[in-house]
Amino acid sequence: MVLAKMIPEATIDQVQNAVNIVDYVGQFVQLKKQGQNMFGLCPFHDENTPSFSVNEEKQIFHCFSCGRGGSVFKFVMDLDGVSFPEAVAKVAEFGHVDVQINTTVNQPRESATATRQKEILAQVQKLFNHLLVNTAQGEPALDYLHGRQMTDETIEHFGIGFAPSDDQMLRKYLTKEGVSYEEQRASGLFVDRDGGELATRFTNRVMFPLRNERGQTIGFSGRVLGKQDGVAKYLNSPETELFNKRDTLFNLDQAKAAINPDKRFYLFEGFMDVITAYEAGVQTGIASMGTSLTREQIGIIDRVANEVVISYDGDMPGKRPPTGR
Ligand code: ZN
Repeated sequence: MVLAKMIPEATIDQVQNAVNIVDYVGQFVQLKKQGQNMFGLCPFHDENTPSFSVNEEKQIFHCFSCGRGGSVFKFVMDLDGVSFPEAVAKVAEFGHVDVQINTTVNQPRESATATRQKEILAQVQKLFNHLLVNTAQGEPALDYLHGRQMTDETIEHFGIGFAPSDDQMLRKYLTKEGVSYEEQRASGLFVDRDGGELATRFTNRVMFPLRNERGQTIGFSGRVLGKQDGVAKYLNSPETELFNKRDTLFNLDQAKAAINPDKRFYLFEGFMDVITAYEAGVQTGIASMGTSLTREQIGIIDRVANEVVISYDGDMPGKRPPTGR
């Protein structure tokens, strides 16, 4: 058996160092110096005011409108719709770097820690779902959801689960599964106690997975079961390597996958509205995560939708204009 050879890290560095991102991007975008950065019109969507920037010092690009950003390789991947190895090959060719790149190898661009965290969260999502659907511990939570007219199909569709009151359960489970202390700590599933102990962040909560555009779990939102004084009704994962609430839209993955020839999306106030709408037959609902819409989210919507039906009700935070930054 012949294994496809991965591109060595050193070769990737060699290619990256040989090419200035400003020169590469400059083939497609007219860039103008403005302060520390270069600015131009974003090639990923229509715009009249430049919100696409390149930082020459850091060799990265970032669009303040659609939130895309990254290295020169990421730029090529997004612009040409190619894999990471193909992007490396293109940049190498542009820079006349004499290296052999195997473009057939299946090599991800994301960091090893990000890949690992996705595996961990996927496993935890399955565990929470199992606890909700199949165990006695999860029964009160399941009764609560059924009481809210949520069907089993909806529970499966959104991958909903339950985090029990036992605040050692998850820690023990992950440790047994070979997840290290540092990996658990980085997962956003725990809070630091004094003395470096990890305590479960989510206890006695119905757990709603938050997924990225590719349908991978990147965090959770937990709704407390019953009323508890002094406890937040909803609790989200903190910002982690995977989860950035500024550019997360709940249900974007499944909304994009739904049959939707008009590319019409429904923007809701909160993710529970998305779930309720799904039960009523609306498969293309999305929502921001407990904040006003950010520029990044608006950019994403601009990219995927032809039409957006805004379904905010009352005088809610979402009525405010998008927050900047
Ligand atoms: Zn953009």
